[in-house]
Formats: sequence, C-alpha cells, structure tokens
Amino acid sequence: MTPHADLIQFIKSLYPDQDRIALQEPRFGGNEKKYLLDCIDSTFVSSVGTYVNRFEDMVAEFTGSAYAIATVNGTAALQVALQLAGVQAGDEVITQPLSFIATCNAIHYAGAQPVFIDVHPDTLALDPKRLEQFLSTHTRHDSAGCINKSTGKRIAAVVPMHTFGLPCHLEELLEICARYGIPMVEDAAESLGSFYHGRHTGTFGQLGTLSFNGNKTITTGGGGMILTSDPELARRAKHLTTTAKLGHPYEFVHDEIGYNYRLPNLNAALGCAQMEMLPHLLDSKREVALAYAAFLNGSDIRLMTEMPGTRANYWLNAVVLKDRDEREAFLAATHQSHIMTRPVWRLLSELPMYSHCQSDDLSMARKLEQQVVNIPSSARLP
Ligand SMILES: *Cc1c(COP(=O)(O)O)cnc(C)c1O
Repeated sequence: MTPHADLIQFIKSLYPDQDRIALQEPRFGGNEKKYLLDCIDSTFVSSVGTYVNRFEDMVAEFTGSAYAIATVNGTAALQVALQLAGVQAGDEVITQPLSFIATCNAIHYAGAQPVFIDVHPDTLALDPKRLEQFLSTHTRHDSAGCINKSTGKRIAAVVPMHTFGLPCHLEELLEICARYGIPMVEDAAESLGSFYHGRHTGTFGQLGTLSFNGNKTITTGGGGMILTSDPELARRAKHLTTTAKLGHPYEFVHDEIGYNYRLPNLNAALGCAQMEMLPHLLDSKREVALAYAAFLNGSDIRLMTEMPGTRANYWLNAVVLKDRDEREAFLAATHQSHIMTRPVWRLLSELPMYSHCQSDDLSMARKLEQQVVNIPSSARLP
C-alpha cells in the first residue's frame, strides 16, 4: 500500500473517468460561446463595449458592493486599489507571507515595500493578535499617520488575503486598522463567493480586489475587479484604469498618468456567462469540500474549513499534514497517480526580491509552509 492510498482512491471517486485530475479547472457549461460570438459579431471586442458594464453590474450585485470596476487582471486591480487607498512611493504595506506572489508585486508596483506579519492557523491568513503586537511595539503615531519606528516609514495600508477562499478574521483586523488609522485593502482574489457574517469578502476594506484568472472560481481568461462603496474612489478607479482620459467625443486629453488596465469586452463577455454559472459552481465546490470533510473526519489529516460565522467558496481545499516528510510522501504518491496536488506557496518573505523586508518571527507561517497541501477542488462535472 502506498501511503495515503485511501485518500487517493477517494479523490479518484470524486472525479471519475479522468486520466489526470487537476487542482481547479474552469467549467464552461452556460452561455460562454453565445456571448463570445455575440461580442465578436458586434466588432466591439476590445476596450469599448457593453459586456464590461454588464459584468461589473453582475459582480456588484452578487457581492453587494456599491461599485465594481473591471480590470485586466487581479494584480493590476490590487495595485490601483492600493494607490487609491493612499499608498505612495516610500511607504510600507503590511501583508501576510502566505500568499500568491501577486499580493507582494502589487505592493511593489504601488511604490511601497511589504512588511510581513504572521498568519492564524484557522484561516492561513493575517493573524489579528500578531498584527496588534507588531503595531503596538513597532509603530508610533504622528501627523503623517502610523510610522514604523525602525524604518521611519509610513505604514499606509494593511492587506489581508482570504487564503484559498477561507474568510480571514475581518472584524478583528478592521478594528485594529481603525484604531491605528490604517486603511485596509482586501486581496479577495481567491474568495469570490466567500462571505463573512453574511457579507461578501472584499467589501469590508476601503477597497477590495478580485481575480478572474483561469485557475480561479470563475474565469474571464484573465481579469480582475476593484470593489468599493465609495463613489469618489470608484470614479477614480475607473479613471485611472482607463488611461485617465477625459470624456470627449473625439479629442484625446488625459489629466494624469493613468494605466491601460481596462478589461477587454471579449473577456467581459466570458465573465457574464461565468457569473450566471457562479451559484451552481459554488454549490458543487461546497459538495466536494463536504465530501472531503466527511472522508477525513477522524483521520490524522486536518482539512481546512470555514470558521463559524463565515462561508468559504472552497476555491482550493487544503489539508494540513504532520510534517514535511509526510507532505513529500503525499505529493509524490498523488502525482504518481496523476492527481494534481500542490504544496502551499513558498513564504513570500523568503523569496530573493522580498527577503530583506521586515517581518515578525512568522513562526506559524514557517510551520504551515511545511505542512499545507492543496488537493483537487474543481466543481464536479454534471
Ligand atoms: C490570483 C491572485 C491574484 C491576482 O492574480 P492575477 O493573475 O493577476 O489575476 C492576487 N492575489 C492572490 C492571492 C491571488 O491568488
């Protein structure tokens, strides 16, 4: 018997008749082709067209966000959201070391440098106690805001990320941010369809951002979205991501340095069809997560599940194994069986570009980095 043979058999039974079982595959079972053809027939495949507005409206309605501004990808959305929250060159931004590289890169593109604070074992996301500890010992307040005593730089934002779609400790983090006068920007790239006390993730911070990359819960090929409840921030988000062009029937005048971060209409057409599928996809992903939970109940493998009061989208299920050796054995055995599994990201704080950045001891993140593995989580085929 190979190690974890039972779990491997169970994964195969969840996704029968597949030679290779992916981690998270897109599903196109609705109006995708119809809307794409309509978009091509209209000739408006690029930066102008009605699908963009429709997609934004659908996402705003689903998330309950007052405004939703489509962008070319999730990284661009986060960069602009940070800038709109007031992040400037030379600032620092607090985030978690356990995330996809985009979180850190967006902070860098906005001209700031990340500071890494440890994660909570129940969410794999920013730990409010650790954040409080860092801010109370390492910062002072002056007229410019919250200042890092060891670098003299301003801490301009806190960016929690809802890891694998598990909502983080939003209430506690928001309270701390408010007390220290630091805006929160949520990286909700992985959590479309995840709710905290009934409210959608990404709508708690001053701004929040989504991603529609090919591996996410729904996809536009590539795409992102900025969420905010502030009409002025929403107007600025649209302006900045569309080259800061002033409205005029034929003249090209721009009033600041903007970005060509607009989502093409073609991608938005795909997004409209995918949004129609979203409730069904979320149901199916929840069924998969519940099946894993029932199967692993009583075993020594811990499955990451939503905290009480929250609802996860179960974008990627994650198991916590005993140690690095068990993780290596599990990865090897699953890959041998053509089942895609993946260790959690290397800590961002260990990558050469970011290893010089300040952090707390990151003891929990270092431990989890050895133990956490994602297992197949696609919505099941009908
Ligand atoms: C996917 C993702 C993003 C955005 O990625 P894009 O590929 O640029 O859409 C940002 N942050 C996290 C944590 C992600 O997983």
